[in-house]
Amino acid sequence: MGLNSLTIKEASKKLKKGEITSVELTKACLKRIKDVDGKVKALLTVCEDEALNEAEMADKQRKKGKKGDLLGIPYIAKDNIMTKEVRTTAASKILDNYIAPYDATIIKKLKKAGAVLLGKANLDEFAHGASTENSAYGTTHNPWDLTRVPGGSSGGSAAAVASDMCVFALGTDTGGSIRHPASFCGVVGTKPTYGRASRFGLIAMTSSTDVPGPITKTVEDTAIVLKTIAGQDRNDATTPDKAVPDYLGSFKKSLKGQKIGIPREFFSKGLDKNVKETVEEAIEKIKDLGAEIINISLPHTKYGVAVYYIITPSEISSNLARFDGIRYGHSASTTSPSTFAKASADKPAPLLPLGLARDRRKERGEKDEVKTLMDVYMKSRGEGFGPEAKRRIMLGTYALSAGYFDAYYLQAQKVRTIIIEEFDEVLSQVDCILTPTTSTIAFKIGEQIDDPLAMYLEDIFVTGASLAGLPAISIPAGFAKGMPVGLQLIGQRFGEQTIFNVANTYEQATSWHTKKPKL
Ligand code: GLN
Repeated sequence: MGLNSLTIKEASKKLKKGEITSVELTKACLKRIKDVDGKVKALLTVCEDEALNEAEMADKQRKKGKKGDLLGIPYIAKDNIMTKEVRTTAASKILDNYIAPYDATIIKKLKKAGAVLLGKANLDEFAHGASTENSAYGTTHNPWDLTRVPGGSSGGSAAAVASDMCVFALGTDTGGSIRHPASFCGVVGTKPTYGRASRFGLIAMTSSTDVPGPITKTVEDTAIVLKTIAGQDRNDATTPDKAVPDYLGSFKKSLKGQKIGIPREFFSKGLDKNVKETVEEAIEKIKDLGAEIINISLPHTKYGVAVYYIITPSEISSNLARFDGIRYGHSASTTSPSTFAKASADKPAPLLPLGLARDRRKERGEKDEVKTLMDVYMKSRGEGFGPEAKRRIMLGTYALSAGYFDAYYLQAQKVRTIIIEEFDEVLSQVDCILTPTTSTIAFKIGEQIDDPLAMYLEDIFVTGASLAGLPAISIPAGFAKGMPVGLQLIGQRFGEQTIFNVANTYEQATSWHTKKPKL
């Protein structure tokens, strides 16, 4: 195994002792990317020269006495996280060749800690999906079986970690997008409490649930990364002034005294038999380690997916409104925006609904030319967005429109409140909740993509924690039919320490996290 297989903890130990340099470690990762990414297709951008420069700088700083667990550690960021002077596409054609003018707060923090950015990972376009098949740049393949999906939407990040292209990666989780692919790829993925890590510089999907988090090879590594990226940020008002604990320093050895709730609704029909058996074995192990297993019920979580798919498209329809062909990325305009602004002011758009006006022009045999500002919007968005983004814009616009707002959006928010209260109530009786992360193992590429409902049901076990803003982690818990199975632990708001402790104790007592795919 090469240096690229190391965990953060192992690599930083070697770096500290002077046994390896960051340049060597970075080169090992870059070589691995060259060797396997042709098959896995996890990355959209590799910044080889910049990474080597950063690694060299990290080595110099270390010589000058700089310290830190992430100094000189190479990582990959999901491509909906803004990276200054490095292409950021959100896997959308509408942001093809978009160069971010500033770093996201979490990237800034990692830079300050001396971590080395290797490249940007593939995702479902704008993080809409659970397979990376919605990417405008092709599907990422699961390193355990290249005919299967890696999960999503942070599928590129999870596949990159699973195949040792990097030491760790960043993802974003809005409704499972870190935990789902972590489970499918057999790595550790954490969705922190909403607000624990800044959203500033993430390309917004659903602002009320978006949160960035680490994808790593071990729970210890997750603790290291979260400690670095978490905390209050003046640029994100949803990050509270709440100290970030030293997670790693407070790891416990035993699970004695821990009450772990098992919600019966998560183990009923719909859960694959092999996944169920694997998770049940994990529960036995956790019991052996001293935890008290308590049967609980979360009856309203069954509405989680329905609620999520009203709230999420609603926020998406608003957040994606900014991609208008004028300010960002792809534009159908061949004229300068100011000329359009003037033309539109001089000659207001016809009062016909936009689509109809366009159809009439077509009927009259007029060419599909971009004449007005409205044409720029429509054509740029029509060409730039993929089918899933368009579907969500339409669903969200509908749910928010007059007459439907109360029936859909408002109703969904009310049920969301019940789900939040239900979680809070249960979490006042147990330390954390344990569930499978996904209901099946990774499915075959192409198997489900034409069935949006089947795709949305992928999120059945992960949307609850997102809607309630709770921290949740997915860790490797075994294999079913040769594919990784993940188990999810959900904790109290800002209770990352508790779920990390349980996850770490389980991980140390098992060896699932050490298994590697053959590539
Ligand atoms: N599968 C979810 C969706 O498609 C995940 C989204 C996310 O967490 N970014 O909305």
